[in-house]
Amino acid sequence: MPELRKYVPAECFVEFRPKADWKGNYYGFDWMREGDFDISVAPGIGDSSFKEIIGKHYVSPGVVQPDGNKYKGDFKPDTGLFKSLETFYERTDLVFNDGTTVTNYTAFVNVYMKEKETKTIELQVRSIVRKSPESLELRCDRSDIVGISPSNLSDLGVNYGGKPHMQTIKITLKDTLDNPADIKVVSVTVDKDGLPAENIVGKLTICPNNKSNRKKKAIVLISVKTPSFSGLWFGKRGDAAGNKDFIVQTLHQALIDPQFEEYASFFTYLDLSDDPGFKSYIKEDAHQRKAVVNWSGSTGLEKYCYAKFKEYLKDMDPALENKYNGNDYLKAFYFGENLIAYDRDGSVIYLNGYSTADHEFVVMSGTAIQSTAVHEFLHALGLPHTFHAKGDYCYRGLYTENVLDYTHHLGDEFNNARISLYKWQWTKSNGNAQPEP
Ligand SMILES: [Zn+2]
Repeated sequence: MPELRKYVPAECFVEFRPKADWKGNYYGFDWMREGDFDISVAPGIGDSSFKEIIGKHYVSPGVVQPDGNKYKGDFKPDTGLFKSLETFYERTDLVFNDGTTVTNYTAFVNVYMKEKETKTIELQVRSIVRKSPESLELRCDRSDIVGISPSNLSDLGVNYGGKPHMQTIKITLKDTLDNPADIKVVSVTVDKDGLPAENIVGKLTICPNNKSNRKKKAIVLISVKTPSFSGLWFGKRGDAAGNKDFIVQTLHQALIDPQFEEYASFFTYLDLSDDPGFKSYIKEDAHQRKAVVNWSGSTGLEKYCYAKFKEYLKDMDPALENKYNGNDYLKAFYFGENLIAYDRDGSVIYLNGYSTADHEFVVMSGTAIQSTAVHEFLHALGLPHTFHAKGDYCYRGLYTENVLDYTHHLGDEFNNARISLYKWQWTKSNGNAQPEP
């Protein structure tokens, strides 16, 4: 082993990024956003540098927006919060020969797989070279499990001050990991005496993904045919069958496997279209606009739907009636009608969906988009909105491609922009899920 000589500075640095067309699929990936990686489904958004968008929204000077569902207010970056984030992404300062410092952060990847499976993922390395090293090597101390191809980055020449080199690499896991495995980028140079010197110039951590790190979440999907309340269709039925793939890929980022029980096999839908009890939740305002009252809470619509669902279950098999009670099962009701509701202050709000504070129920509106269901499921797994000051970190609303943001408010072209979860969100949601059986 060559001696590590810190006094021979490297003249390059490397960071890891997802594959170019990543849409939240294949793996969970998190890195310090530095404004250098455009996510195709979120043009201009996945590019927002955390330094500029970590902070809080203020409704008046010194008063942080108290409503976790609102991003309105004056946004101010928070340097303290950003510093904490720099620690989270393991900031390292690399010093070039002339004393110039470059800042480097660790990226993290989560790969959902089972023991003894083999899984290959594709990532990119982003490198800046001021002087080409003898070699630039990718090394992992768990080479018994982790294969890297190529393990030697090709020399693409000096690009300092210009565009970074982007190279695709493949990582193959031959089994799951009990502990984190680091892939370190080692720059090998020769010092003035002709002796080899090595420097670590980049790092990716593959997070542990063995059975004790993988979780499950039991979700009961219930399609409902409601009375008409959005004025567009008459009692349109909801469809729980769609977009399961997106739910799976997003929860897998946090190593959570959703276990669906779908009530379409027993009966096509829960038919409440003529149900007087459901109708009592609908009110018409002065503009003949129908909206739902008590859409959440102790007398909420979702609890009413659940009571009716239990009647169906009991009819089918008395043993099933109470099977899904409690927090172990997340009950998700899919409406076909567009959920227009009255807010607590009486104003009309348009909901794509909502989840209840007790983490037991989720309701999806006919206007739900690709990410609505999993967004609500993740609320039920304890995640606040990215723009909520209560979260571990708080980001400027509408500036991220995170599933817990409201980025779709920017316009229909951003309906598929919410694709990712941050590492702190992996930990939090995973901690609230159930052990794998
Ligand atoms: Zn939400």
